Amino acid sequence: PKRVVIKIGSSSLTSLHGEVSRKKLEKLVDQVVSLKDEGMEVVLVSSGAVAAGYRKLGFIERPSSLPEKQAAASIGQGLLMESYSELFLSHGYVASQILITRTDFSNENRYYNMSNTINVLLERGIVPIVNENDTVTVDRLKFGDNDTLSAKVAALINAHQLIILSDIDGLYTDNPSHNPDAVMLEHVTEITQSIEAAAKDSDSAVGTGGMKSKIDAVKISMASGISTFLGKTDVPGILSDAVKGKARGTYFE
Ligand code: ADP
Repeated sequence: PKRVVIKIGSSSLTSLHGEVSRKKLEKLVDQVVSLKDEGMEVVLVSSGAVAAGYRKLGFIERPSSLPEKQAAASIGQGLLMESYSELFLSHGYVASQILITRTDFSNENRYYNMSNTINVLLERGIVPIVNENDTVTVDRLKFGDNDTLSAKVAALINAHQLIILSDIDGLYTDNPSHNPDAVMLEHVTEITQSIEAAAKDSDSAVGTGGMKSKIDAVKISMASGISTFLGKTDVPGILSDAVKGKARGTYFE
């Protein structure tokens, strides 16, 4: 079966106030379910733990210090998984949680353990939901909003495709929120210097990686021969269309 890794950023899962939106989770799960129903193996890399937890920690806005974010994630990760589990179960699918840190990829034993575990889950029809293990991760070693984490996971399990969903419909020649003349690139076969220069940070308070970390991710996936799609989360049917190669967005291959 076709293996797909889907990465969803915080900005695609949260409401304007920065809290996790149940409606957005539902829509995402519906889309993932349509791939599962077609017989595909899907790994979901989901951010959103801090967003799901900061209010219960007693903050009215998303905190900015690392220990506060880690504390919020410690509350939110469980709540996020609870929502995912419930939503997938309502469609007859079981979700599982996998928390990873960057150092797990440089330890041979851990590397093979992760791969073996995910293989068992996928072969049995489970939907593994991966996130960075925020509580233990040191800031300077962080993956950066899960973009590069998703690419490493795609390489780890020999995925056919990596799909990165964002609040933007693709890679532009410049940040479109600042430059009205920026145009979207539909096909990219090589990460050139001009693409690296075009990929800038995020403007949103919630999104942390921006286009920069997405291009870092694409470099990893392309090096492993995995075709990668970047598109906008809230387009109906985007996942099914992306795997068929007919969604609007940027294809890297
Ligand atoms: P997510 O939370 O979904 O990972 P981010 O907010 O981190 O998303 O990243 C997407 C944002 O990156 C866009 O909304 C846009 O503001 C910014 N950006 C910077 N440079 C570019 C570019 N060349 N093309 C498209 N978006 C860009």
